[in-house]
This record gives sequence, C-alpha cells and structure tokens, in this order.
Amino acid sequence: MSDIICNAPTKVLLADDDTLMHDLVTHALSDSGFTVIAVADGQQAVGSFMTQRPDLVLLDVNMPVLDGYSTCEEMRRLDPNSNVPIIMITGLDDIGSIEKAYGCGAADFITKPITWPTLSHRLSYLHRGNVAALEVQAKIRHENALYNAIPDSVMFFNADYSLKRTHQGTQGYLFIDQSPDNQGAVLCMLLDHFSVAPAVNVGDCFSDFTRQLDLDNQHYFLECRQALIGDDGFIVIIRDISQQKANEEKILNLVLYDPLTGLPNRKYLEEQLTSDINNYQSKSIALLLLNLRSFAQINDNFGLAVGDDLIVAIGHRVAHTLRLFDLTLRANKLENLELSRFAGDEFAVILRGISGSQDVLMICQCLNEAIELPFVVQGIEIYVSFYMGCSFFPDNASNATELIATADSAMHLNKQDPKLEIAFYDVNINEMAKRKHLIESKLRNAQSNQEFFLMIQPKIHLNDPTKLSGELLIRWDNPELGRVSPAEFIPIAESSGIIFSLSSWVFEQACRIANQFKAQYQLEVKLAVNISPQMFLMKESFPEHLQQILNRYNQLASNFELEITEYVLMNQAHNTVRCFKQLQQMGFKIALDDFGTGYSSLSYLTQFDLDTLKIDRAFVSTLESVRSQKLVKSLLAMAQQLDMTVVAEGVENQTELSFLKEHNCDYVQGFLLAKPMQISQYVDYAHKQSPRLVKPSN
Ligand code: C2E
Ligand code: MG
Ligand code: MG
Repeated sequence: MSDIICNAPTKVLLADDDTLMHDLVTHALSDSGFTVIAVADGQQAVGSFMTQRPDLVLLDVNMPVLDGYSTCEEMRRLDPNSNVPIIMITGLDDIGSIEKAYGCGAADFITKPITWPTLSHRLSYLHRGNVAALEVQAKIRHENALYNAIPDSVMFFNADYSLKRTHQGTQGYLFIDQSPDNQGAVLCMLLDHFSVAPAVNVGDCFSDFTRQLDLDNQHYFLECRQALIGDDGFIVIIRDISQQKANEEKILNLVLYDPLTGLPNRKYLEEQLTSDINNYQSKSIALLLLNLRSFAQINDNFGLAVGDDLIVAIGHRVAHTLRLFDLTLRANKLENLELSRFAGDEFAVILRGISGSQDVLMICQCLNEAIELPFVVQGIEIYVSFYMGCSFFPDNASNATELIATADSAMHLNKQDPKLEIAFYDVNINEMAKRKHLIESKLRNAQSNQEFFLMIQPKIHLNDPTKLSGELLIRWDNPELGRVSPAEFIPIAESSGIIFSLSSWVFEQACRIANQFKAQYQLEVKLAVNISPQMFLMKESFPEHLQQILNRYNQLASNFELEITEYVLMNQAHNTVRCFKQLQQMGFKIALDDFGTGYSSLSYLTQFDLDTLKIDRAFVSTLESVRSQKLVKSLLAMAQQLDMTVVAEGVENQTELSFLKEHNCDYVQGFLLAKPMQISQYVDYAHKQSPRLVKPSN
C-alpha cells in the first residue's frame, strides 16, 4: 500500500509539441501539488513514462514522431499492468477521436480549448479515483494472498442463507460433490446447524462449532467459525480438524489404554471408578483384581515375547468370558462390568450393581474355568491361574484409591493362602498384615534357633495295616508366638522365600528319620513329605537338589512320597512335566494332596502320571451327603482305572471309615485312627500295627 498512500507531489507527464501548452499546463497545476514533466513528442513521452513513472499522463492527439493514440497504445503495451490514467487532449466535439482514444487505452479526454481553472480539479479527481482503485485492487490482492495462505475453506453467505461464493482453500476435497444444483454435503451440514442456531440472529457476531461429516466413507471433523459481515450476510470458515482429532484420540489411547492388550489401563480404571463412585446410588460396586500366578517365571522360562503374547491371549479370554457373563448379569438385573489391564501381570474388573460376594464368586468361578484351559503361545502350551482379591464400595472403601488399595490387600491375602479361590477384603486385614509381618520376622531365625521339628501322621492301609506309611508334618514352636500352624506360616515362608531353606531342612530331616527307623528300629516306612509349589520354581533343578540330599544321607528316593498340590500342576505345565518325569525316574512316588479344595480339575489326573490321590477332608467330612458319596465313589473308581492309590484325608468318624472301606479306598488318614504324633511315639504305634515286627529293646 505504500506505493499508493504517499505525500509526494502528483507527477503529470505532458506530451505536446506546442511548448506554449507546456507553460500553460505547468502554470495551471503548479499551485495544486502537481509536478509537470513536459515533453514535445510521443516517443519522448513513452521514454519518460517508463523512466519517470508519472501518476497521470496528458497526451496531445496530434504530435510529431508518434501521435497521441500510438503513444497511448505503446505505453499500455509496455506496461500492461499500469493503471496510470492517460488523458487524451482532443479537439472539441471530435467524437471520432474521443472514441479512438478510449480504444487505445485512454482513461479520459480533455477537449480544447482547455478550461484552465478546472484542470487541476479534474486531474486531482482522476488521480484520487485511480488511487482508490489501486487501493481496492491491493486489498483484493491481500485478501487473495490471505485466502491462499490459509488452508481453511471459506463460505460466504447472504443474509437469507443463500450461498454467495466459496473459497475452497486446500480442503477442496470437502466440496468434491458440490455442483450448482446440489451445493454439497458441507452446505447441508451448515444449513442444518443454522436451522437450530441461526447465524444471522446471533447477538454475538462470532461463534464457532464443531461438526462431524461423512464423505466418501470417511469421517471428517470440521471446526466451523462464523462471523457476521454487517447486514448483508456472514462468512463461515471451515477447518478440517480430522487429523487433530485422530491425534487427540491417539494420545488419549496412549494415556488411557494399554498398548499391548488394547484394554483400558490403570489410569482409565481409576477415572472410571471415581466416576462410578460419584454417580453411586444404591447398589454396590466391586473391584476384582486378578493377578497371574508365577508370570515372572513364565517370562524367565520362555522369554518376554511369549510373556507378552500370553498376556494378550489371557486378556482376550477374560474379556470374552466377562462378555458372556455380562449378559447373564443384565438378565439378572445387575449392571455391567468392565475389564482393564491394571499392571504387568494383573487385570482388574469393575463389577457394578453387585448385591454381594455371591455375585463375585459366580464370576470368579467362570473366570477360573475359562482360564484353566491351556494357552498355546508360539507353539508352547502354558497353564495359568489367578490370585483373586475383591473389595466393595461403599462397604470397604470411601473412594477409588481406597477401593483399589483394599482390593489389592485382599489379593495379597489370596497370595498368602493360595488354596482360596478368591479373597475378599476383610477389615481385619491390617491386623492380619501385622501378624504376617511378625511371623515373617520370627521365621527368619526359627531354623537357627531350632524351633522347627517334624511330627508324623500315619496313613493306614485298609486291607493291610502292616504296610507302614506316614506323612511328615512340620511344627513350629516359637517362644513368643507359641505353636504356629503350618497352614499359617508355610504361605508366609513361601512368599518370603524362606521356604527354600525350610524345605531342604524338612527333606534332610525326612532322610534322617528314614535312616533312624531303618537302622534303629528295622522299620520300613514309606514317608510322605509335603512339597511347596515354590520348589518347582527353583532356579536350580529341584530333582537334582533332592538327589544331593539323598546322596548325603545314603537314602533312596523310593522310600519317599512327595505330596504336591494342584497349584503345582496349574502353573508351568512344561517345566512341571519335566520335573515330574525326573522325580519319578529317580524313584519318588508323587501324590496329589488336598484334592477337592482347589479347582479339583479331573483333567490333571489324566494329564499327569500321578501315583497317589489324596482326597481332601472337605470331601470326606461331607460324606453324609449323597452328592459327596457319589463324588467320592466316582473318584475312587476313576483312580482305580488310572492305577492310582487313593488316600482319604481327615477321617474323623466311623461312618466315614466304613464308607471308604466299603468302596475300596486304599489308605485312610485322620484323627479317628491316629493324630499327628512325635517321631518317637510312631515307633510304638508302628509296632502295634505290625506286631510281627520285633521291637528292639533300647
Ligand atoms: P496337608 O498336607 O493336607 O496335611 C494334613 C493336615 O490335615 C495336617 O494339618 C493334619 O494335622 C490335618 N489332619 C489330619 N487328619 C485330620 C483330621 O482327621 N481332622 C482334621 N481336622 N485335620 C486333620 P497340619 O499339620 O496343620 O498341616 C497343614 C498343612 O500344612 C498341610 O496340609 C500341608 O499343606 C502344610 N504342611 C505341613 N507340613 C509341611 C511341610 O513340611 N512342608 C510344606 N511345604 N507344607 C507342610
Ligand atoms: Mg500333605
Ligand atoms: Mg492334605
């Protein structure tokens, strides 16, 4: 714009062969801010036009060398973009030459004789008009440059919502279907919007809104800004923000979703729980945490890639199971549930509209059934199981953080007592945690303080009581805590790692006892030793470890039976099978302990070549029920088919014993026949059972 708005004098180029005219024009214009450059012919005029860049040109029609018309034409030819007004000086009423002058590119004409007093006004007016036209052109150029510089599309509307024009910007693709008859999807979308939010009536002359538009099977997010242009309409600037929306979604995904499984993550869960709790009305919200047992071991054994694939597969299976369950929940007029990946090896489920722990137990059983089927990951068959912990809002927590913390405490409770299918938060957990801490600290010195000892509980063969066998059971007497049950301290020894040295001690004691029975009392007793599932996860080979102890005590594996629980079989099928084969090849018998407390999956009995099945007290103590009777009968029949020896645990009364005898159970173990006893007492007991054995006198 600086070329237009300036205070310099207006330059007038005058071409006339009459030098008197030069003086007259100069004189007439001198007081009105004009500078006159006078030349005598057309050729000089063309030269000055190009070099002096005048603001106005006055050309006499009749001149030597080049007449006024040719001069005008030449000037326009040489500078076609120049808007400089060229005024032709013609004879009065010479209509022909006036028309010819316009034809050559002249902007105006002045007839001779010239009216000198009005000349300067006339030229000033022409000059101002030209400057105004230049300003308008510059504005248009600026506007166009602006439009071209911004990627947005602009739609110009009349006040009656008819479309005036469109600047498509770089987003022409939005207007692809636009034709004069059909103004296109964008216009329809805008008119739809204006039908509910009229653009013209808005008090505020500026407003914006975002709309979604489907074009050619693609979703677009359009940010529309609208501004009134006085009374004659308004404009709408449209920006395609689809990419920005996609990026926002990606960021949101990264923040709230787990990239591996695609499930919501912990942050999402926390937000969701907070919102659920804020909107809580009357029904409970439960948080169920599912922690994979021994996942670190799976990563160690098979590598992180297998671990990752396994997590994804578990996520799918759990989500699928929950989806099926969700339908049942809804059918039961309960609300829905939501799964997230809470941490590396931990999933969380929000259960809404829960009426009590019964609902959670149902879900938990479904999940266990689904999860116990093997996963095949990269060709490897893997068995997994969960620790489960659950707590309720509002019963156990007043906000999301507390709900998570209490569910986590419950899960740790399940870790301490893995026989539980699930642990619910208990207000006494803190007390329990304190006691656990105390026990753990006392356990650390118990071995060196010789606080442990073993007792033995006989297993009685129902057909041949002279077949001697007994289960070694650990006992711990602590000066401060008194007698602590193994059911309480073994899980703590397992979670703290103390179990490794403790188990070695137990097995060494077992070897010593076997040696003592044989050497001192000529007793051949098959000794059963309980083996923690943790031992199968030892870094060094567990069978080799036992072999070293056997060698040290000059004992044979065939003198021992190892009692394991289902938890061993559920984890690490690969490793376990290898361990099993090795232990059996060494001569150990393997018994499946506590059958009936865990998942009691019959598939383990067929999958693993087990020697003995120990039916848990839970089955035996309910033998008065017909259902239990049927179950035990089937178990006995199946074990016989599989060539397994059966031991019934916890036999406490004659009815139970009679039933077991009648159905050919091999061994019974229980308080009815013998309680756990001191090793020294067992010697007397054994001699009573097998009177043909001569008790040596000491
Ligand atoms: P378990 O291996 O199932 O051992 C049987 C448990 O049932 C023993 O409890 C025994 O005293 C009890 N019992 C036997 N007959 C009856 C009966 O008629 N009625 C009732 N109510 N109970 C009966 P205990 O000695 O308290 O051991 C509990 C658990 O601790 C054992 O269950 C076993 O899992 C674990 N445990 C014991 N000693 C060891 C050990 O040396 N190493 C490991 N890893 N675990 C052990
Ligand atoms: Mg046992
Ligand atoms: Mg048992």
